[in-house]
Amino acid sequence: MSLALYDTWSRTVRPFTPLQPGHVGLYCCGPTVYDHAHIGNLRTYVFEDVLRRVLELNGYSVRHVVNITDVGHLVSDADEGEDKMEKGSRRAGESAWAIAQRYTAAFQADWRALNLLEPAEWPRATDHIPEQLVFIEALERKGFTYGTSDGIYFDTTRQDGYGHLARLDRAGLWAGMRVAMGEKRNVSDFALWKFSPPASRRQMEWDSPWGRGFPGWHIECSAMSAKYLGPWFDIHCGGEDHVAVHHSNEIAQTQACHGTRLANFWMHGHFLTLDDRKMAKTDGDFLRLQTLIDQGTDPMAYRYLCLSAHYRSTLRYTDEAIHAAQSALDRLRKAYAGWPLGGTADEGFVARFNAEVNQDLNLPRALAVVWALVRSDLPPEVRRATVDHADTVLGLRLSGWAAPALAIPEDIAALFAQRQAARDARDWAQADRLRAVLKARGWQVEDGASK
Ligand code: AMP
Ligand code: ZN
Repeated sequence: MSLALYDTWSRTVRPFTPLQPGHVGLYCCGPTVYDHAHIGNLRTYVFEDVLRRVLELNGYSVRHVVNITDVGHLVSDADEGEDKMEKGSRRAGESAWAIAQRYTAAFQADWRALNLLEPAEWPRATDHIPEQLVFIEALERKGFTYGTSDGIYFDTTRQDGYGHLARLDRAGLWAGMRVAMGEKRNVSDFALWKFSPPASRRQMEWDSPWGRGFPGWHIECSAMSAKYLGPWFDIHCGGEDHVAVHHSNEIAQTQACHGTRLANFWMHGHFLTLDDRKMAKTDGDFLRLQTLIDQGTDPMAYRYLCLSAHYRSTLRYTDEAIHAAQSALDRLRKAYAGWPLGGTADEGFVARFNAEVNQDLNLPRALAVVWALVRSDLPPEVRRATVDHADTVLGLRLSGWAAPALAIPEDIAALFAQRQAARDARDWAQADRLRAVLKARGWQVEDGASK
């Protein structure tokens, strides 16, 4: 088996070899917990979960780290505007600390509902202020920073190759950008530390060698990934929107401080769109997993939908698409539930399945292999064992699924009870009449042999 993955840094699909034999360090940018996650965010975590499962399928032990951004992510990527946490706090009428806790718990509930494997660490930015300060001090000593009246900034012109990940052309950026620069020297420079405004009513702020304030967004990921995985690890992931700013800046900081580009592979999931619009939390109108559940959709159907598109293509969410995913999942579950235990997996199908997932996580084609298996004439117990193998990657919880107990409406239950009473009283005419009524309503009565 050999695994190949697409690396945004090199823009190629290349063979994956871990830096340390047998072990993989995987860092995934986590949620900004000022609101619920939307199903677009969750698509990125499903992609990362599948990546982890495929790494484990290849025999690697994976140290998976997902951070929680609970401070410093400003409303605009250009280091302007309010901190999203403070904004969320004002909207909810609760403290920034309280909403961070609430939305972290809600996010982790979505995580479990989608059967995402638990990471080794969930580091929170606010728990790692000292690590971020040490990092900024190192950047300062090396001459990569400058101060303005509102913060400490990273000088991107000090670094050769800044923006390589995004193939940023600094000259083009300068010409095309009309963002307010404030006192920043260059449009691509970014905040490492922001001062609390004078007479500030900020809830989250700390002392620092430069003044009281809070960290910029990018520094948390450089500092926390270095703490938990070291400054040179295997794979760093996020959504495609992170390439140009957040990940380019993480790389700039780490290269300046540690001389590495942080991760050997950079992998990015493409967006889920809703009615052709980018789905952004700031739109105020977004779909949550809970909304789908309330509409009767199983979270596993949403997972199935994510698996049905390659992670490097945009997935357009529509009602038809989620219904099709739900019915495909139902068919797969029913087929699986009818197969007995006790078989061994079919080697040919296992090899075909593994080859697809190892080719840059080609889950749509891996699912096609599963359907070919379902329709095959292999013995049912062999099909079951083979699908069990596939489900270690698909994560659809097939073996844990039980057909839901039939929900019988109250009026139908009452008719059944009346019919039973008639039979007990040996009133066969009435029992037959009630059987006909039930049949007309779509309910078939089958009497057991003892009655
Ligand atoms: P945030 O909570 O905004 O920091 O985003 C959490 C994760 O979701 C990041 O990896 C983003 O890149 C990703 N993301 C944001 N919007 C979408 C979307 N519409 N589709 C897929 N991933 C997204
Ligand atoms: Zn990050």
